[in-house]
Amino acid sequence: MFVNDCIFCKIIEKQIPCEFLHEDELAVIFRDIHPKAKTHLLIVPKKHIHSIAQMEEGDEKIVGHLMRMAQKIGDKLGLSGYNLQINVGKDGGQEIFHLHVHLMSKSG
Ligand code: AMP
Ligand code: ZN
Repeated sequence: MFVNDCIFCKIIEKQIPCEFLHEDELAVIFRDIHPKAKTHLLIVPKKHIHSIAQMEEGDEKIVGHLMRMAQKIGDKLGLSGYNLQINVGKDGGQEIFHLHVHLMSKSG
């Protein structure tokens, strides 16, 4: 599902240039444009899910997959540890309403 005014949908559809560290059938990983840590990645599902608060039946498979991708990219980059953060809703600090997991690390 593609949402016209969604920047992450545009990135996923390659309408906006962006280097992916990883891409598979369910999700992509790219670097946050304003890194808040030495390594700051965004793990983003290809399906446009507004936020955790708008998950539908079956989306838990996608969200679980994002965690698995965090593990794999952490291994691949040799990160010694990382913080995973999901902002939910305006009052949860969410600015882009296409679900994403922040992966932040002091290493990398
Ligand atoms: P959130 O506040 O959880 O919605 O986080 C949105 C994140 O997306 C912020 O950390 C932004 O720096 C990041 N961001 C916004 N636009 C881009 C972009 N074009 N490429 C990479 N990261 C972006
Ligand atoms: Zn989107």
